[in-house]
Formats: sequence, C-alpha cells, structure tokens
Amino acid sequence: MELTCSKCNAELNEKMNYCPNCGEPLSLLAKKRETLKHDNAGLEMLAKLTLYTKNPELLKIIKDFVDKN
Ligand SMILES: [Zn+2]
Repeated sequence: MELTCSKCNAELNEKMNYCPNCGEPLSLLAKKRETLKHDNAGLEMLAKLTLYTKNPELLKIIKDFVDKN
C-alpha cells in the first residue's frame, strides 16, 4: 500500500509516525500523542496560573479542573 502525506503529498513509509517533510502526524498513535501533548500543555499552563492568581474562587476552579484530568 502506498502512503502519502495528506498535507504535503510526500511519499511515506507506513512505519513512520510523522511526515519527515512537514511533520504532520501520520499514525493514529502519533495523532493521539499530539492530542495528549496539547492537553498536557494546557494543564501545565493552568497549573502555572495558580501560582499567579490570588482569586481563591478561580484557584479552586483551576485545581478542580487539573485534578479531573
Ligand atoms: Zn507531509
């Protein structure tokens, strides 16, 4: 089966997780990893926010959200 990148049409090997040409995630696993990375970045950002906010209500909301994830 011939694989090409959906983004840049580069020829791909099915073992590849990312397009070597444009970096588009190719496998479901890679796509999942990308999503996780984004989620973690969001959580990390929220965690950092708790360091700067002095509003206790907002702090609680953020902490609850982080704990759930
Ligand atoms: Zn590509």
